[in-house]
Amino acid sequence: MHKLTSDLPHTSHPASRVLRLASQETRFSMRWYIARNLVSAPLASSIFPLLLCLVLTVACCPAMPPTPTPPCTLTPVHTPTPTLSETDTPAPTPTPQPDDVATASATSDSPFSDHAPALRGDFLADLELFPDATRYEIELTVDPSMTVITGHERVAYTNTEDVPLADLYLRLFPNTPGYGGAMTAHNVSVDGEPTVPVDELGGSAVRIPLDPPLEPGASLDLVLDFTLEVPTEGDLGYRQLGYYDGYLALANAYPLVPVYDDEGWNVEVAPTHGDAVYSETAFYTVHLSAPEEMTLLASGTCSAPEPNPGAGVTWTCVTGPMRDFVAVLGPEYQVASHTVEGVTVNSAFYAKPPRNTEGGARALDYASEAARLFSARFGLYPFTELDVVETPTRAGGIEYPGLVVINSGYYETLSDRMEWVVVHEVGHQWWYSLVGNDQVDEPWLDEALVQYSTLLYYENRYGTELAAELLEGVFEQAHEDLITSGRDASVGLPVAAYSGEDYGPVVYQKGPLYFHALRQEVGEEDFWAILQTYFTLNRYGVATPEDWLAAVEAVTGDEHRALYEQWIWGTEER
Ligand SMILES: [Zn+2]
Repeated sequence: MHKLTSDLPHTSHPASRVLRLASQETRFSMRWYIARNLVSAPLASSIFPLLLCLVLTVACCPAMPPTPTPPCTLTPVHTPTPTLSETDTPAPTPTPQPDDVATASATSDSPFSDHAPALRGDFLADLELFPDATRYEIELTVDPSMTVITGHERVAYTNTEDVPLADLYLRLFPNTPGYGGAMTAHNVSVDGEPTVPVDELGGSAVRIPLDPPLEPGASLDLVLDFTLEVPTEGDLGYRQLGYYDGYLALANAYPLVPVYDDEGWNVEVAPTHGDAVYSETAFYTVHLSAPEEMTLLASGTCSAPEPNPGAGVTWTCVTGPMRDFVAVLGPEYQVASHTVEGVTVNSAFYAKPPRNTEGGARALDYASEAARLFSARFGLYPFTELDVVETPTRAGGIEYPGLVVINSGYYETLSDRMEWVVVHEVGHQWWYSLVGNDQVDEPWLDEALVQYSTLLYYENRYGTELAAELLEGVFEQAHEDLITSGRDASVGLPVAAYSGEDYGPVVYQKGPLYFHALRQEVGEEDFWAILQTYFTLNRYGVATPEDWLAAVEAVTGDEHRALYEQWIWGTEER
């Protein structure tokens, strides 16, 4: 985690003063990296103001009078949010249809039929794609203090590996460094037999011995209670979990089964400057109870709140096939919605006039346009809802399946950065949520592709000239800086291999250059076909770099591995 101030060069350019002022207000995440190096190099003066207008928190517009205000020529960014409709912008390409989704619907005797509300009608057959997926049934009760959550969880788990499992792990992410919470699991039983879990990794994982081991294809029924205390103050982590400013963010607020793969159980503790969760597609049914004055935003689709004497109200949420569940509660959310390509995009923002309302409208606009473009370019978003939610997070934004959180500072400043951050997080619905990957060991596969996808949004919305300037000013310049400072590194490494300082420039700024180089090499038509093929073949799964190369080969007949080796694994010295 870094303060943006630490990344700023001490130039005399007025823009750097602007950036420093902005950085004094908010700490920003390593999850997006547009602005870090914009003032670190002698960009052409004609380009600089344009880039600055696009990305800085307080530049250009009259929100922050003490700061210099370079001319802003990118008017669309500041245009009041238009009302969108299904038909007002033609899709750039014919909308691809998933080849494994016909018109079949979930049968009423399916164990997943209760999840139908979470999926659009054309995607109900997706409920049948994962008969062995883990099923979570979770009760979360939020104490009136909003800082203590009691939980009850039932996990139906099937061993889909080809080896017996002598242990099952649960991750208690609130106990991970950077979360600041305290979670305990108790009353654990497996198939009705009480068992004593073993704490590991400082309590961020518990190991549940299975005796006898769970054979391939066999299932177990795990039941437990848990208690969670959330942080309420301090600068720890991204504030992805906690009760701050009257808003409760419940990220990874339940015991989660990690991924078992060729490494065995993935239970490492991730560095705090990267994403921590590596999980597989599962089905979540969550009954969440909280004081009745709260508004709930959550992954999936939730019922209307039902009165629950003694516990306020209770919502029931179902997710369909998703790899995580997140919930946010707040006392004064206002929600603006828009339907795009059959998906209800919700923008939830603090109902404090006047600026948050405008920020909420802008977030809705950016997310809607991104969802429209990515649906057309990559493949359709299968879920009924996509929520974009203002929270007190210290990250610029954080992605979860079906819901992204956005730093409340953007809603107050109406920063131009907001557009990049919202589009970036919405892009994660395709690269991370639908097409999963090991975010801890191979973060480039989603982050670099999401960054390039965000550039594609700017290209589609504002034109190739601006996109070229961003490519040069944001990505290529960062790469150049890495080389000239002797810090160039391979893009394909685990998060833990990078310092907090270098993780962003290497993965988020150099990484996207691979996708651009590939696009130049294979041409437009094949590039779009690669993205669609990669999406279709790996939807709901966990993709690896080899899966990406397989998609490249499926379209072009060649992995173009030399390009991959050069950009993902190569380094330069000068
Ligand atoms: Zn990201």
